[in-house]
Parts: sequence; structure tokens; C-alpha cells
Amino acid sequence: MQDYINKANQTLLHTYNRFPVIWDKGDGCYLYDINGKKYLDFVAGIAVFALGYNNTFFNNALKAQIDKLIHTSNYYYNLPAIEAAGRLTALAGLERVFFTNSGTEAVEGAIKTARKYAYLKDGHTHHEIIAMNRSFHGRTMGSLSVTGTESYRAPFEPLIGLVKFADLNNFESVLNCVTKDTCAIILETVQAEGGIYPAEQEFLKNIRALCDEKDILLILDEIQCGIGRTGTMFAYEQYGIKPDILTCAKALGGGVPVGAFLLSERVAAKSLVPGDHGTTYGGNPFAAAAINAVLDLFAENNIIDQVNQSSRYLEQKLDDLVTKYDTIVSRRGMGLLQGLECREPVADIISKALEKGLVLINAGPNVIRFIPSLIVGREQIDEMVIILESVLER
Ligand SMILES: *Cc1c(COP(=O)(O)O)cnc(C)c1O
Repeated sequence: MQDYINKANQTLLHTYNRFPVIWDKGDGCYLYDINGKKYLDFVAGIAVFALGYNNTFFNNALKAQIDKLIHTSNYYYNLPAIEAAGRLTALAGLERVFFTNSGTEAVEGAIKTARKYAYLKDGHTHHEIIAMNRSFHGRTMGSLSVTGTESYRAPFEPLIGLVKFADLNNFESVLNCVTKDTCAIILETVQAEGGIYPAEQEFLKNIRALCDEKDILLILDEIQCGIGRTGTMFAYEQYGIKPDILTCAKALGGGVPVGAFLLSERVAAKSLVPGDHGTTYGGNPFAAAAINAVLDLFAENNIIDQVNQSSRYLEQKLDDLVTKYDTIVSRRGMGLLQGLECREPVADIISKALEKGLVLINAGPNVIRFIPSLIVGREQIDEMVIILESVLER
């Protein structure tokens, strides 16, 4: 394995400090490296492989579409995309969708929509966006501009301008950023990369009311927390509010690179028109077939019910760890998007766990993130806890 890794390190651009493992295949909640060693996976390709690895139904759906048609162009219609659009809009309660190839592109589309909406309203172009500190929205220039980690942004300035940062769950800090030129507020319903911080009920309700009052568009980024992970299809359902624009990706394609932004008819009718936005691949028949297969599996296997059951068990087990270990400060999260905040950086714990056959990832330096496949069962949660404890007890 080390020979391959050395070879990789000669050619792959060094933008990731990768773990020293080469994955070969997957099955359910388990991964195998090229030496055949088995690992329990609580990362799922960063909340992507929500329905587990090597699902026969999913694989067959993709194979069938490959044999029919993989790609055409958005200048034409295709049946898988028509179906995916109908299903996704119905699930989100938003009437319009634009398919992308990634999360960051969905955010770019959301930002463009908000700017165009404001531009059509008052004819000028200096509109402001309010984003949250600690947020993560992607790595392209627009998404990066609204990402709340200064060190990610600094080397790439100037980014898109007129972005102000407020604090999640501090409504006062948002109010302080609002001006007559504010066109959008963007936030993750549950901040993921930044350390697993769910928005509070009161905060999100206040934000929604503020947006309604001032005709500011609310963009919810559910790229990581959406598609069933929190126990509802979209996390915002648990807040009794709806965004004007929603971004999703990650689990949406079950491993096939897809994303989408969705918007209400009201906003769609007053924003992007032909010529304003496009993509060569987005929503091609292959990508859309993946979305349809994912949604089929959600319905057939009651994935949401499974998440609600397994996440209660996971929460309980993680809470036990908080009580038992001094190094763990607290648990935060919703559904199967959970984090354990530790007193010290967790890189070492994660590396040791990997050696012992457990795949975990951090969310910020001090938080261990738990984002398993949505089909994870009690058995795997117990197995995870045993391995993690063996690392913590060192
Ligand atoms: C992963 C992520 C993104 C970026 O998605 P990519 O597909 O990596 O471009 C944006 N927002 C959130 C909340 C994410 O978790």
C-alpha cells in the first residue's frame, strides 16, 4: 500500500493531508482497503453514501441508465431529470429546481439567484449577503466568499464583495448586519464542517420573519444535513419554516456527483431567466437516475424511520461517552449528524481509530464527527463505541 501512496504523492496536488489508506471496495457500512482489511465506516464519504456501499438496487439502476443514455445536454429534456425534478421539488416543498454537479455549484446558483432577484427589484448591483461565522459553503469563489472561516478565504481575496458575517444563534448579530441593500441570508440549518452546531428554533424563526418583513431571501444550505440525515428529509422541516432557496448535494446522488438548488415559484419568477445560468453536465440522465434511485430507496426502506431509531441510540451512546471520559466535553447534533466536542485536538484519536478499523472524521480541530450511512444499525453503533473506547482508554 505504501508504494501506491508514495506514487500518489508524486502526482496528486497536495490539497489534502490524506490518511494512509487506499480503499478498494465497500459493502453496507463497511469499507475494505486494498490489503483486504475491513473497516467500520462512520464517515460515508462525508455524508454521501447514505444508503450504504454496494447496494444492488442502486447499482442496477445506474447500470441500466449507462446502457441507455449517460449524457445529452440541458438544451434538451430527459426523462430521469423530469422525474427527479418532480420528486425533489415535492419533497422540499419548493417549486423549482436546477441540477448541478456538486455542492459548491448549488451555492453559486443560490447566490446568483439572490443577486438577480434583488437587481430586478431596484436596478442596482451592490447588494449584500449575510453569512455565518464558522459556516462552510464550498471552495469556489462565490461559496468561499460566504464561508465563515477567515483562513480559508484570506489567500484568495478579493472574493465576491459585500458579504457580512454574523453568529449562528445570535439574532442580534444578524440584525446588526442588515441594511436596505441586504439581498440574502445564507446559513446551514445544521453547521457541519464548522463543528456540528444546529440552528436553534427561535433563531431560525426570527430569521424567517426578518426575511419576510424585509424581502430578504433565506438560503438554507442543506448539502450535508439534508436528504434524511437529521430524521426528516430536510432539517428545516423540524423548524416549521421553509427557505426561499435550498441547496443540496452529498447524499442526493448516493455517490454519483450531483447537487441541486431549489427555489420557490415566487423567487424563480423574479430571478434567473434563459442566459443567466447553465451547466453542461448538471441533471444529465445518469446523474438524475442516481437521484431517482436514491429516492426510491428512501421510500422503499423507510430510511427516515430508520434514522430516527438509530440516531436515538447513537445519541444515547455518545452521551454515555461524555459522562465517562473527561476529555469529551459535550455532544451536539441532530439525527445522524453528531459531534463530540473534546478538550484537545482529535486528530490523534481519529488516526488511532483508523488503525483499529474504525473510520471517523473531525469537524473543526476538537470535534469528532459521526456521519454514518443512514442504514447504520445498533450493531454497528455498538461496534463503533467499542473501538472508540479502546482508543480513548489508552
Ligand atoms: C460539502 C459541503 C459543501 C460543498 O459541497 P461540494 O460538493 O464539496 O462542493 C457546501 N456546503 C455544505 C454545508 C457542505 O457540507
